[in-house]
Amino acid sequence: MKPGIPLAGVIGSPIAHSLSPKLHGHWLRKNALSGHYIPMDVAPDDLGEVLKLLPRIGFVGANVTIPHKEAALGFANFVTDRAALIGAANTLIFHDDGRIHADNTDGYGFMANLHQNAPDWQADAGPAAVLGAGGAARAIVTSLLEAGAPEIRVANRTRARAEALRSEFGPRIVVQDWVRAGEMLAGAATVVNTTSLGMIGKPELKISLTALDPAAVVNDLVYAPLETPLLKAAGERGCTVVDGLGMLLHQAAPGFERWFGLRPEVDAALRDAVLAG
Ligand code: NAP
Repeated sequence: MKPGIPLAGVIGSPIAHSLSPKLHGHWLRKNALSGHYIPMDVAPDDLGEVLKLLPRIGFVGANVTIPHKEAALGFANFVTDRAALIGAANTLIFHDDGRIHADNTDGYGFMANLHQNAPDWQADAGPAAVLGAGGAARAIVTSLLEAGAPEIRVANRTRARAEALRSEFGPRIVVQDWVRAGEMLAGAATVVNTTSLGMIGKPELKISLTALDPAAVVNDLVYAPLETPLLKAAGERGCTVVDGLGMLLHQAAPGFERWFGLRPEVDAALRDAVLAG
C-alpha cells in the first residue's frame, strides 16, 4: 500500500556525503511538489531486503550508489539496455506490484553536461581520451560510442580493465599504457578523467599535457574540488573545460521525472543549492 506522498531516496554506504538529497530537495521545493527524498545507509547484505520493503511503504524509486550499483541489477525485474551494457544501475523505479526497473543515467548525465557547458562540443569531432576504466568509465565509453566518437583511447592503472573494455566494446577502443597516458592526448577532441585522482583526499592525477590540443574539450568527473588541477591546467592551455558537478545534476533528472512526474531543470539555481553548505 502506498501513501499519497511519493517517497524516493538514495541508497549507499556511507551516504552522509551524498549531494542527491539537496539536489532532489531543491527540485521538490522549487516545483512545489509533495514528496520526500532521503539518504539511506544500507549495508550490502541488507540490500535485497530493503529493496523488497521500500515499494511497500510508499517508495516510488531510489538512486543507488557505491557499493550497490552492480548488485542492484541482480534485484531488478527489468534492466534497461544501457544499464546492462554498463553493468551497473544508478536509478531504480518501483512499480506498484513491487517489481523493480533498473536504469543507468550516468552516460546521459555525462553527455547532457557537455552539451550544456560546451555547446559546440560534438562526440564525433575526433578521438576521445579516457583516463580510467572503472564503473564510471564504462558509462562514458558507452555513451561516446553511441554518439559516434571515431576512436576512444583508454588508459588505466590496471591495464587489464582497459583491455576488458576493448574486448567488450570492440576496435574503436584503443588501449594505452597508463604511464604513457599523456601521449594519447595528441589529436584528441575530448578528454575525460574518470579516475578518482585529483579528488580532495586522493593523490594528484599526474599526466603530461604537452600533447593536449587547445581545441579539445576537457571534462573531469571529479567535482570536489570543482576546479581540479587537470581542469585548471587544461584551461590555462586554452581548452574548454567542464567540471563534474553538471554530470551529477543531469544524471538525477530522469529519475526525478519518473518518481515525481515533472522534468526538472538543471540550472544555476540548482548548482547553487547543491553547493550551499
Ligand atoms: P571505480 O569503479 O572504483 O574506478 C576508479 C578508477 O580510478 C579506476 O580506473 C581506478 O584504476 C582509478 N584509480 C583509483 N585510484 C587510483 C590511483 N591511485 N592511481 C591510478 N588510478 C587510480 O569508481 P567509479 O565509480 O568509476 O568513479 C570514479 C570517479 O568518478 C570517482 O571520483 C567518482 O566520484 C566519479 N564519478 C562522478 C560522477 C559524476 O556525476 N560527476 C559519476 C560517477 C562517478 P584501477 O582500475 O587501476 O583501480
